Amino acid sequence: MKTQADLYRELPSVDELVRDPGVSDLADREGQSATADACRTVLAKLRSEIAAGHLDEAKLSLALSDLSSAVHAEVNHALSYSLRPVINATGVILHTNLARAPLAQDAIEHICDTAGEYSNLEFDLESGERGKRDVHVDRLFRKLLAEDNVGLRPTERAGAAVPTQPVKTGAEISTIVVNNNAAAVLLALNTLAEGGEAIVSRGELVEIGGSFRIPDVMAKSGATLREVGTTNRTRIGDYERAINEHTKLLLRVHRSNFEISGFTEQPSITELVALAHKHKLPLMEDLGSGALFDLRTVGINDEPGVLGSLRSGVHVVSYSGDKLLGGPQAGLISGREDLVKKMRSNSLFRALRVDKLTYAALEATLLAYVKRDYNAIPALRMMQMSKEEIARRAATVQQKIQSGEGAPSTRVELIDGESLIGGGSAPSAVLPTTLLSISCEQLSANELATRLRSSDPPLIARVEEGRVLLDLRTVFPAQDEVLTQILVRNATV
Ligand SMILES: *Cc1c(COP(=O)(O)O)cnc(C)c1O
Repeated sequence: MKTQADLYRELPSVDELVRDPGVSDLADREGQSATADACRTVLAKLRSEIAAGHLDEAKLSLALSDLSSAVHAEVNHALSYSLRPVINATGVILHTNLARAPLAQDAIEHICDTAGEYSNLEFDLESGERGKRDVHVDRLFRKLLAEDNVGLRPTERAGAAVPTQPVKTGAEISTIVVNNNAAAVLLALNTLAEGGEAIVSRGELVEIGGSFRIPDVMAKSGATLREVGTTNRTRIGDYERAINEHTKLLLRVHRSNFEISGFTEQPSITELVALAHKHKLPLMEDLGSGALFDLRTVGINDEPGVLGSLRSGVHVVSYSGDKLLGGPQAGLISGREDLVKKMRSNSLFRALRVDKLTYAALEATLLAYVKRDYNAIPALRMMQMSKEEIARRAATVQQKIQSGEGAPSTRVELIDGESLIGGGSAPSAVLPTTLLSISCEQLSANELATRLRSSDPPLIARVEEGRVLLDLRTVFPAQDEVLTQILVRNATV
């Protein structure tokens, strides 16, 4: 019997393997260095398998007889993209791990049009002089925020007193764009409260996924956090008592991803606005999602909108570009012109600003809002899709699977369920949907979900109570056919 040392000796050297006729054509096509790297990786894997005792003489000679295809596979893997499109069948519309909002077609085209050529990103075509990159989207935000029927706070729409100061029309509102909302909060706090205190309710000291914690961002901004109230109850008097000569800002944070219920109290925005006015302090609201359209049209009543917040007198709001807005990753700060101007001249802004691709995508997304073409924005289209329409699509998928071979071992049912808005919208922000429930005799739900994830393209599903659940709300209708084929291939063994 051969010893491990004998087995090692059977392995070719990297040079020999590169010159192998089955491999040398690969070097011509994909380059010498990528091919040599792949040879090294393949040989290293064999060496470690010999060391672990997984390869005897017979298995090794089998592996050696087909070394060139192992090298081909390794080169393909190394030279293929790691970032890939996936099919999101989780029903979570703004899924942070799955890249949040898919972009509108116009946004993609505008990126393509401008990315490969020079553009007037910071160039004023009229004067021929240096311009500001903000102008490309600021003009659209002004227009949108001047309109009177987008994203109002429902309670205020219902007739409650709405203070008229200090922001009256969108024309007085400026908007700047930074890398994400975390950066927006950092920039705003640093500009408005560095070296002083910012007052926040204890019930709003939130952590958003990916370790964005309000107290930590506050510390990095150079502002001191002044907590008031308790976890469940904070009154306007708590804010007022905390105001002193060091106070620079009142901050309200939207409780994006959790709810406090039961014995709770929170001052209204109207009360906070009045308090800020009385003490001549700026009031900022970190909205998180920051809808630019009226969510009540899809039955969601408790998400504050950007315009609603500004209309009720909040001086500055911050929100994400890739949450309810449905655009690219970005952080937006909209608010009173003088305050936003200060943020623009803060050197942090230079470090946090976004590139031409983001401006292109954002400009196109905002134009869809200006044209009221909400269906052009995939996230909004998904939100508006009815449960019946989803049920019809799901029934078609069900039929195709059940008529296929091997179908008897697979159970496909349609059941009622809920889609989630996600992306830091209230946990109660759910939409009724119809789910495809799949169970398979030979596979556990987790095994099936793993198979679906390793398909091409990867199909991401939910696993609940031993079943694989698919929600077609977040699947583009044009993907239904591919999704069906993936299910047929993997669930009907
Ligand atoms: C999501 C969210 C953030 C972070 O926004 P990103 O764009 O992910 O950086 C901050 N604050 C609130 C309230 C949020 O919901």
